[in-house]
Amino acid sequence: MKMNLDMIPEAIKPYLIPEPKGELYYKCLGCDSQFSIDNLLYVCPECGQVLLLHYRNAADLKNISGKTWQQIFDFRKLLKTPALKGIYRYHEFIGPCIPLNSIIYLGEGHTPVVEANEHLKNKAGIRFFYKNDGQNPSASFKDRGMASALSSIKYLLDQGRVSDVIAVCASTGDTSAAAALYASYLYPLVKSAVLLPHKKVTAQQLSQPLGSGASVFEIPGVFDDCMKVVEHLSNNYSVALLNSKNAWRILGQESYSYEIAQDFDWDMADKVVVVPIGNAGNISAVMNGFIKFYEVGIIDALPKIIGIQSEHADPVYKYYLEPDENKRKFKPVNTKPSVAQAAMIGNPVSMPRVIQIVKNYNELAGQQRVNFVQVTEQSIMDWQLEANQNGHITCTQGGECLAGLHIAVKQNIVSKNETAILDATAHAIKFSEFQNLYFEKSFPKAYEVTSNAQYLNKPSLILPDDGNIVPSQEKRLKKEQLETFVKDISGKIAKRLNLKSSK
Ligand SMILES: *Cc1c(COP(=O)(O)O)cnc(C)c1O
Ligand SMILES: [Zn+2]
Repeated sequence: MKMNLDMIPEAIKPYLIPEPKGELYYKCLGCDSQFSIDNLLYVCPECGQVLLLHYRNAADLKNISGKTWQQIFDFRKLLKTPALKGIYRYHEFIGPCIPLNSIIYLGEGHTPVVEANEHLKNKAGIRFFYKNDGQNPSASFKDRGMASALSSIKYLLDQGRVSDVIAVCASTGDTSAAAALYASYLYPLVKSAVLLPHKKVTAQQLSQPLGSGASVFEIPGVFDDCMKVVEHLSNNYSVALLNSKNAWRILGQESYSYEIAQDFDWDMADKVVVVPIGNAGNISAVMNGFIKFYEVGIIDALPKIIGIQSEHADPVYKYYLEPDENKRKFKPVNTKPSVAQAAMIGNPVSMPRVIQIVKNYNELAGQQRVNFVQVTEQSIMDWQLEANQNGHITCTQGGECLAGLHIAVKQNIVSKNETAILDATAHAIKFSEFQNLYFEKSFPKAYEVTSNAQYLNKPSLILPDDGNIVPSQEKRLKKEQLETFVKDISGKIAKRLNLKSSK
C-alpha cells in the first residue's frame, strides 16, 4: 500500500500523512455559544439555533504557506491510503482531530469534472463544466456529508462516548440513500431509520435505503413535514440526527470546493460555481470551503457563487430580492410540485447559515460575489435533456443549474470570459421518472411543464411482416426462419435510420 516515497520533496514528507490534532467545537449561529464535540449535538441547547463546526487551531493552518498546502494535496493525491482517498485528502480542513482509523471511506469524492462540448457552450453562452457529484457511491453529493457525519460517529464510538447509535433523517430522497448506506457500513454499531414524504421521492431513491437495510418510514405531506417529525424525535429521544442540521454534514460537503480548487490548479479567478438550493446546506458548505482555502492562501481569489432555485420552491431567492440587507426578512414558502424534487423545500434548515456566510463571503471578496437566480420548471427539464443529449449524466437539479447559468449570462451576472462549474448534484437515473413524464407528455398540470418536440424520445418496437416467424426465449426459430426474420428486421431499421448500402 506504500507509494515510492522517494518521489516526495523533503519539505512535503512530514505533512503527507496527517496526524490527528487540534480541537473542533460547535458554535451557535444565534448566540455564539460554544460546545464540545464529545456529545452528539444539532442545535444550540441555549437558544435552539443551528450550529457550525470551527477549528480552535485554525490560525496554525497559516503557518504553512498556500503554495506548500497545494503541494501537500497534490502529492497526497498519489497515496493509496483509503482514509485519504476521499474527502479526507483535505484532513486538516475536513476533520483535523479525527484519527485516520475512524474515517469511513466508501469511495466518495473526487468526482469527475466534464467540460461541455462546443454545441452546449454556444447554447448556454459561456464555457462551463459539470462536476458530476452523481458519481458518488449513492449517486449524489450527500455522500460527502455522510462520510463526515458517520466518521464523527465512529470517532465517538471508538472513544466509548456513544454506543448503539440509532441514526435518523428526513429526506427528499438522496439524504436517506446516503445515510442508510454509510450507516450500514457501521452495522451493527449504528442502525438507521429514514423518514420520507409519501410519493414525493422517486422509485429509485426509495429502493436505496430499503436495499441498505434501513427502517424506512413514509409520511403524508412534504419534506418540511418530515423534517418537523425528525426534529421532534431528536429533541425527545436519544438519536443521531443525520440531516444537514448536523454540522458535520456541512463540514464534509466543504470538500466539494476544495476539489474544485485542486481540479482547476488552484486558480479560482474568473470562475463561477453554480449550485441548486434546497435545504441550503450545500451552498453554505460550498461558500465556507472557499472561504477557508482563501483565508489560508491556498486560493488567491474567491469564485463567484450562483445559487439557483425553481420558482416552485424559492424562499432563498425571494429573501435576497430585497437589496437592503437590513430590510430583508425571511419567509418560508409553500412549495409547488417541482422536477427539482430534491431541492423542493420551502423552509430551509440552513437559512441562518446562508445569511451569515453570504455576508462573510462578500465582505472577504470586497464585492458582491454571491448571487441568486430563479428558474422555471420548464427550463429545468429542457436544459437537463439538452445537457444529457450532449454527453452528460445530470439530474434535474443539474438541469436547474444550467437553466440558471443561462439566465445569469443573459442578466450579465456572469460574463463570457468567465468559466462556470455546475454541480450535477445527483445521477440522472435517480430522476428518470421526470424524463419519462416528459417523453410520455404526461406531466400533471401543477408542474407547469410541457413537452418540447425537439427533446422527445421513445423506443420503437420493430415487428416482422410475418407474425408467425417471431423468436422467443422458449421457442427458437429454425435456421431459414431466423435468416428471414433478421433480414426483415434489419431492412426496417436501415430504412428508419436512412442507412446507405455498403455493398
Ligand atoms: C439535497 C439535494 C439538493 C439540495 O441541497 P441542499 O443542501 O438541501 O440545498 C440538490 N440536489 C440534489 C440531487 C440533492 O440530493
Ligand atoms: Zn445559541
